[in-house]
Amino acid sequence: MDDEHDLIDPIDDEDAEPPQIDPERQARRNAAMSFIRRFGDPVLKSRATEVDRFDDGLRAQVRRMAGLMDDAIGVGLAAPQLGVSQRLVVYRVGYEAPLVALVNPEIEWRGEELETLEEGCLSIPGVHVDVDRSIHVRVRAQDEHGQPRFVEASGLEARVIQHEIDHLDGVLMLDRAPREQRKQAIRELRDLEHQAAA
Ligand code: ZN
Repeated sequence: MDDEHDLIDPIDDEDAEPPQIDPERQARRNAAMSFIRRFGDPVLKSRATEVDRFDDGLRAQVRRMAGLMDDAIGVGLAAPQLGVSQRLVVYRVGYEAPLVALVNPEIEWRGEELETLEEGCLSIPGVHVDVDRSIHVRVRAQDEHGQPRFVEASGLEARVIQHEIDHLDGVLMLDRAPREQRKQAIRELRDLEHQAAA
């Protein structure tokens, strides 16, 4: 049940030190995390470019992102988090759930009803902040073959989609967090940097 909770709580991150993770799993997670761009990298603040080639390269990129997301124990990943300026996200909400790849996604409609929940982000490991999101969204996108894909999502899936699409627009969860939490998170991140540099 612990594992399930880890997926439900944060968004594309789980706790930096998940409980009861075996050493082999931890090693794979560390390896995956080494590919993920961190807060402060300019690619995370940039608007990503539309995908116009639906070729084998794109499909390989989807597979690579899915593998890194799973190894990092995340539920979603956006291409800019790997330093790739492409409007492409992948997510998998729950271990048994199918992988979903959304290319050039647009939120067509968001419900007015909001929910505040704590989110994490693979690019901001160890930080959790409260973010208001619409509970229901409808998204128009393409799949990795260029076919139209429509998604109606609620709850956690809707939250993951909104978080990942934000990455395509250079928006981070910290930008949507309450002011005090954002300041606190940035202080913590600075301290971590100093510790790493010391
Ligand atoms: Zn994120």
